[in-house]
Amino acid sequence: MPSFVINDKCDGCKGKDKTACMYICPNDLMVLDKEKMKAFNRAPDMCWECYSCVKICPQQAIDVRGYADFVPLGASCVPLRGSEDIMWTIKFRNGSVKRFKFPIRTTSEGSAVPNGGFDEGNGDLNDFALFTEPASLHMDAVPTLKK
Ligand code: SF4
Ligand code: SF4
Repeated sequence: MPSFVINDKCDGCKGKDKTACMYICPNDLMVLDKEKMKAFNRAPDMCWECYSCVKICPQQAIDVRGYADFVPLGASCVPLRGSEDIMWTIKFRNGSVKRFKFPIRTTSEGSAVPNGGFDEGNGDLNDFALFTEPASLHMDAVPTLKK
């Protein structure tokens, strides 16, 4: 099920140029209704439920109705993000609650090195070698079937 905004909680990120949910959505789905100062998912069919908007929203104003594959139907799954960890609260429809806490990063913010220190490859999008290959495979070339 796609993400949806809980209107009572959304404050439109206090009218900033770009809201947190607009900033983070990899599919560019979240938009702000500037008259109502409420965000919404403009194309729910395109949402892949990645949870990025749910995790970044400072007001906990976005939710995703879970499928049975990650929480039982009727349960809710609410993250609370800290600077070093994230707490997931799962509320089951029988009223029981479980909480899981996970670290969210091992490096300081902004210090991640995308190429991991490896050569970035040839940059050819038609080539089957992935970013940083073959260097990150510790090979001179990506193995292929001989023709
Ligand atoms: S991030 Fe949350 S509070 Fe900010 S606009 Fe989006 S839904 Fe509203
Ligand atoms: S769950 Fe992911 S894809 Fe869906 S609106 Fe939120 S950030 Fe975008």
